[in-house]
Amino acid sequence: MYQSPRGTQDILPEDAAVWRYVEQRAAEQARRFGYGEIRTPTFEDVGLFLRGVGSGTDIVDKEIYRFQDKGGSELALRPEATASVMRAYLERGLASRPQPVKLYSLINLFRYDRPQAGRYREFRQFNVEAIGEEDPLSDAEVIAILWRFLEELGLRGLDVLLNSIGDKVCRPGFIQALVEYYRPRVDEICADCRRRLETNPLRLLDCKNARCQPIADGAPKTIDHLCADCAAHFDRLRGYLQAIKLPYTITPRLVRGLDYYTRTVFEVVPPIVGGQSTIGGGGRYDGLAEEIGGKPTPGVGFAAGLDRIIMNLREQGCPLPASEVPDAFFACLGDDAKHCAVMLADRLRREGMAAVVGMGDRSLKARFRQAEASGAPWTIILGENELREQAAQVKNGLTGEQARVPFPDLVLHVTGALPSEAPTT
Ligand code: AMP
Repeated sequence: MYQSPRGTQDILPEDAAVWRYVEQRAAEQARRFGYGEIRTPTFEDVGLFLRGVGSGTDIVDKEIYRFQDKGGSELALRPEATASVMRAYLERGLASRPQPVKLYSLINLFRYDRPQAGRYREFRQFNVEAIGEEDPLSDAEVIAILWRFLEELGLRGLDVLLNSIGDKVCRPGFIQALVEYYRPRVDEICADCRRRLETNPLRLLDCKNARCQPIADGAPKTIDHLCADCAAHFDRLRGYLQAIKLPYTITPRLVRGLDYYTRTVFEVVPPIVGGQSTIGGGGRYDGLAEEIGGKPTPGVGFAAGLDRIIMNLREQGCPLPASEVPDAFFACLGDDAKHCAVMLADRLRREGMAAVVGMGDRSLKARFRQAEASGAPWTIILGENELREQAAQVKNGLTGEQARVPFPDLVLHVTGALPSEAPTT
């Protein structure tokens, strides 16, 4: 017996209904803001991720699914979306379209992560990018898409954490201040932080180690070191968020550790903050296009984990769609009746209804059990008598009402347009 690979899931029909609902809400929210769907390949040249996500990150150093195909190409299953979308933007000449180019995708991603609740090796994201625009309105817009999407799903108690990490003009000054603050405290910080102090000081701020917390809390703040342009960008972004009453919390320790991230960073967290808690996050990546060989191109976006959103929807008891049931179930006795049911079911389906014909040779009692298990509100009973009279016994499982319905009236009857004939006993 084979088992699914560790960290993967089978989404069964009852769950798929929930997934489809959440994905449709995501697509609908993107549509309202004028974002179009993009679908990029599941695998890419591994170099795209080495550059576009960055070596030095866990995603690339530890978690990437990397392989060589039979032609010798070095490929990787996508561990995130933005690098692929930016590649497509550059490769497909989207820079010549009106800017920004607004794109969303609903995709599966792969990371060799340690599986646990809300953490998988194959997972799914709603990803949104606005490429080609520096205007802070594009930052506000992507945050608003994420917020409205989660709000309309019914999630409560969420918080938008917001920060600005500056750009290549002001960040070097901030890093210097940060290093000067940490140097005298080097004996008090964890080993990881001692390494970060040398390799990637910005990441000192998002250390999760308990002993580093008071030190990181007291560290200099990026927003106190912004240059005039970055400060203006941040002020205007906040103004747009306030205009639509979108609540946020300025979070000085929220950072992204790679050089191509600039200015805005944000995260959405649910009420109970824990290790796996982040529902989605994003930010501005004005340096990414150059990093992967393109012309300087600003961009901003986010990725929201659908697995975690669905987990939170369930935990909070938010309304979710029930699994789908057919409209009608044909319970037939004998092969002639089944033959007739095939034709009648075809008629219902062509009118858009979901009709199921009971299979196998079964007693009437077993047929009724089948009908009940199907969940269909209508059971259509066909046996010898019904064939002779060219009329079915039609039972409405919701009202318990049963009627004799001539075959030509069946469609109208089950769509509720025709009053039933006198109930039969
Ligand atoms: P990231 O691309 O790392 O910024 O992640 C964006 C979002 O994707 C996170 O906030 C999570 O909701 C989700 N996510 C990231 N990694 C995983 C994973 N291994 N399993 C499930 N969801 C994930």
